[in-house]
Amino acid sequence: MDSMIKRLELQRIGKSAGTSNDCNKSDGANRMPAQKLISTGTLGPANRGRLLQALYDMGASSRADLARFTGVNRGTIGGIVQPLINQGILAEGEVIPPSEAGGKPATKLWFSKNARPICAVLLTHNRVRSCLVSLDGEIYAQHATDFPKDLKDASDAFRIVSTCVEETISSANLPILGIGVAAAGMINTETGSIVTVSLAPYFDGFPVGTELAERFGVNTCVDQDTRALLVGDRWFGQGRGRRTFAVVYIGEALGGALYLDGHPYRGPAGAGGEIGHTIVQLNGHVCQCGRRGCWETIASLRWLRDEARARGLQQPHLLNAGRLLTLAGGGVKGAKELLQEYAFNISVGLANLQHLMALNCIILHGDVVRGGKTMLNLIEGSFRELVFHRPDEEITLAFGDSEDVAALRGAASLFLSELLNFVI
Ligand SMILES: [Zn+2]
Repeated sequence: MDSMIKRLELQRIGKSAGTSNDCNKSDGANRMPAQKLISTGTLGPANRGRLLQALYDMGASSRADLARFTGVNRGTIGGIVQPLINQGILAEGEVIPPSEAGGKPATKLWFSKNARPICAVLLTHNRVRSCLVSLDGEIYAQHATDFPKDLKDASDAFRIVSTCVEETISSANLPILGIGVAAAGMINTETGSIVTVSLAPYFDGFPVGTELAERFGVNTCVDQDTRALLVGDRWFGQGRGRRTFAVVYIGEALGGALYLDGHPYRGPAGAGGEIGHTIVQLNGHVCQCGRRGCWETIASLRWLRDEARARGLQQPHLLNAGRLLTLAGGGVKGAKELLQEYAFNISVGLANLQHLMALNCIILHGDVVRGGKTMLNLIEGSFRELVFHRPDEEITLAFGDSEDVAALRGAASLFLSELLNFVI
């Protein structure tokens, strides 16, 4: 993998690894030619990237399957695969016996257990978490540290972050490929800097990508947490194999992210995806952003708890979608109605998103996932009543993986996405 990454870096940015958050700088569709030609020298890495993408999309596959899927002959596949095996990125596994018609047995290829892992970092206002993620999505070497409540200085916060990352990296038997950071806030994806993390003002403007890259000597990608969930779903979740889909996170806040035609859509410097602040209620409640009637004001955990309080439900501050479901199932007065209203309010914004983008798949994350199948069915029922019906067009609404797993894989996937996508 070393040589592969080295070549990617040289071709993409003309720099050696480890001195800046290059992954972030490579984004920016605005700054790159829309239809950049692939030079002869770039074809090798491009084909390697596409073959690895095909493996993620199909799962463990034989060379013949890969040849069929990518539309090239087996000789070409063999020429790409062998160096990846030699470098310890791929390994041969299960043997597929020949068919009754004869032929040779085939072996399935998958990511090697000995391939270098990616370090994933999750940054929120009160906590940093880090872990290693293998190329096939296994999570291990988890570490977490809470920030002290009286923390005021970015350099103190970074010391805690880098110690946590150091503990994770030192648990690895191998050097890491790079670091992916998902932060719960606004991120400048051009620079890898935090614009703002709610409730943690000391992080404002902090160049976390550059600092981590310099501290650990590897490339680092930084993005907001919802977009991390998006790319996590693309490689390891229900977005696998899809070229276009959306993720919507519904928890304390509400955010969205789009994967369009094979790439995460970020908008200028990562400013896109503020779907929680699309206005759904004229003169509605005041939002955290200072405006009125944002979708977030009627479809978030904050709304749910405020409503529960107003309707006299017990312990409203502890309410979440899972607990509400239990209360509704237990016949607690007002719980069923609140559950239905929460689902309807969520479906309103989803319908707006659907009408704008004509998506075939929207994956929901966050607290709402705790509501399980019942919650999903309620949301889906309202959603289907609100959206245009397109004959022969399937629209999938789905819940993502449990929040912890999805978020950690997502952070690692920020790095993986850049590694696989940059030349396409
Ligand atoms: Zn708002």
